[in-house]
Amino acid sequence: MHTVVCIKQVPDSAQIRVHPVTNTIMRQGVPAIVNPYDLYALEEALRLKDRYGGRITVLCMGPPQAEAALRKALSFGADDAILLTDRAFAGADTLATSYALAAAIARIREDMPVDLVFAGKQTIDGDTAQVGPGIATRLGLQLLTYVSAVGEVDPENRRIIVQRRAEGGVQVLETALPCLITVLEGLNEMRFATMADMFRAARHPLTVWDREAAGIEDITKIGLKGSPTVVSKVFAPRPRTTRAELIEAQSGQPNDLADTLLAKLFTKHPQLGRQIVRRSS
Ligand SMILES: Cc1cc2nc3c(=O)[nH]c(=O)nc-3n(C[C@H](O)[C@H](O)[C@H](O)COP(=O)(O)OP(=O)(O)OC[C@H]3O[C@@H](n4cnc5c(N)ncnc54)[C@H](O)[C@@H]3O)c2cc1C
Repeated sequence: MHTVVCIKQVPDSAQIRVHPVTNTIMRQGVPAIVNPYDLYALEEALRLKDRYGGRITVLCMGPPQAEAALRKALSFGADDAILLTDRAFAGADTLATSYALAAAIARIREDMPVDLVFAGKQTIDGDTAQVGPGIATRLGLQLLTYVSAVGEVDPENRRIIVQRRAEGGVQVLETALPCLITVLEGLNEMRFATMADMFRAARHPLTVWDREAAGIEDITKIGLKGSPTVVSKVFAPRPRTTRAELIEAQSGQPNDLADTLLAKLFTKHPQLGRQIVRRSS
């Protein structure tokens, strides 16, 4: 089985700060990490490889520094890594990103058929959750989103069973391979890479594709040219003026707590108390 896992290098959002005066995002000094959802996707691909054998190719579109994300994936056990990097990809929105990644996967398929494509549900910087479905649509793959568990795979009959988190429950779905799966957080626990794995990953040859190597001829579909999204405004939401308050009832009884709350409410909004008295009389 050949699985492609799409991974994106993102700024560690836990360390991003908004400039207090300009309201712009301060990225300087913010470390880059592998998008956490993509690590769940990679781990799931590794578990399938443990069960059924095969190869895992990790694919990342990004600047040359994104090599670090791919090396990390290699250290966990991915077999091949492809960095899609070209100035022509800069400024891509989700439409252009999914176009470029789909083209690269189509190019990968020329060398070895692809049975499964994994992606995270979303990224922690863009947050759109559009890239996975965009790739599946462009490549004509079956699409399974919000997957919370991967069940049996039948490589001979080319079927897969997954659990998908839906509103109010879990759906058990079966579909045909090849398909694209986007995964939720917490579907597995990532393995650790040993020191030997890290050395192997550091030495592993990386495949670097520019636009031409990925087989992309139409430059109007990639990068800024292929991106109809326009960011009209970026702002930080205003901090709330009202604050939460901890109210403790004297006795700890529910009725006592309700009385304390009402008393506080009527003190703050006396007209509310007068309205209630008027209505009940
Ligand atoms: C309103 C808006 C405006 C933007 N403007 C710009 C801009 O001007 N310039 C700019 O550079 N970016 C811009 N971006 C960011 C850019 O659109 C996204 O980084 C990119 O399209 C991926 O979308 P996402 O992060 O929302 O991915 P999602 O759809 O949330 O990601 C889902 C999954 O797809 C896969 N994936 C996503 N991106 C990649 C990747 N690059 N390589 C490999 N796998 C990937 C991962 O598995 C990921 O978990 C903008 C985003 C938004 C929402």
